[in-house]
Amino acid sequence: MSEADLYDVVIVGGGPGGLSAGIYAMRAALETILIEKGAAGGQVAISDAVENYPGFEHITGYELSQKFLQHAQSYGMEIVQEEVVAVEPGLDFHTVRLANGDILKTHTVILATGGSPRKLDIPGEDEYYGKGVSYCGVCDGFFFREKTVVVVGGGDTAAEEALYLAKLAKHVYLVHRRDALRASMILQQRVKDECKIEILWNSIVTEIKANDEGVNAVDLQDTQTGEQRELSTDGVFVFVGFVPNNQLVPAGIKMNADGYVVTNEKCETNMPGIYVIGDLREKYAKQIVVAAADGCTAALVAAYFVEMKKSGEAVCETPEEILSEAQ
Ligand code: NAP
Repeated sequence: MSEADLYDVVIVGGGPGGLSAGIYAMRAALETILIEKGAAGGQVAISDAVENYPGFEHITGYELSQKFLQHAQSYGMEIVQEEVVAVEPGLDFHTVRLANGDILKTHTVILATGGSPRKLDIPGEDEYYGKGVSYCGVCDGFFFREKTVVVVGGGDTAAEEALYLAKLAKHVYLVHRRDALRASMILQQRVKDECKIEILWNSIVTEIKANDEGVNAVDLQDTQTGEQRELSTDGVFVFVGFVPNNQLVPAGIKMNADGYVVTNEKCETNMPGIYVIGDLREKYAKQIVVAAADGCTAALVAAYFVEMKKSGEAVCETPEEILSEAQ
């Protein structure tokens, strides 16, 4: 196989991490392709508002994701909308297989597949998905104007989504299993200040019920007393965390007990030339800015790896030197 048939880097996933990796890879003159099965932008694209990405005091998730995309495209990066079905590590090169049958050979792979909403796994959740059960306020909130909704969860996502839904719905019950929210203090305060949001502490939803028109109630259980009661609602929005999208992680790559890939600070996995970034990677903060930073790191490390491989000898250039050349 000639070098011409080989990509330097295949990026899997087009969220903030993948697109940032693309920007840095293109600036480092790597032969780069990004594969994304849906619309580029990742989870952030469906966020109502982003207020903690430096440089933007307030921007919609969609706008920010479009800016990432346009920035990556401004370097002429090849972006293909297709599903990746397998990543196969190899000694000389890695192979990325697409659902359309295409096969990509590459020196390096950057996996940026993020996570998906965690489910409650309770009766009625799957059955009434799309009939009152949702995992996205921005996508489905419109259907609940002047209605009553239940939001489940106590983290940043649940708080943000409850605030968004309060702009549309008549009343929002925020059901949380403990007596304190996990969300950041600023979001907690906003939730408490919003008169349309009523927090139901120490409560879990045990069943979602529906009639012919869709969801009409949930069963709640008090986590302290065990007491059960029924609560009328028109919809249930579930925001109880994420599960990593690790289906494409090749066997042999180290993951933690929760399914997040373990890397070093350079986003290197235990397999040479395979990097993991963003929400799929085990780390402290799952934030857009961290995913973007991961993208930078992985692309610079990949550039170093590729240069070393092509030269066939030890390369003096460090990732820091590649970064300074790229600026
Ligand atoms: P999260 O921080 O993991 O919070 C999940 C929430 O769901 C927790 O309150 C948890 O309760 C609850 N929960 C988990 N499993 C449950 C179950 N089976 N039944 C009932 N409740 C359950 O997830 P997230 O809010 O989606 O946020 C994920 C990451 O993205 C976090 O790092 C977050 O900071 C970040 N994020 C940041 C922003 C922002 O900065 N603007 C926005 C969104 C997300 P406990 O509290 O009892 O564990």
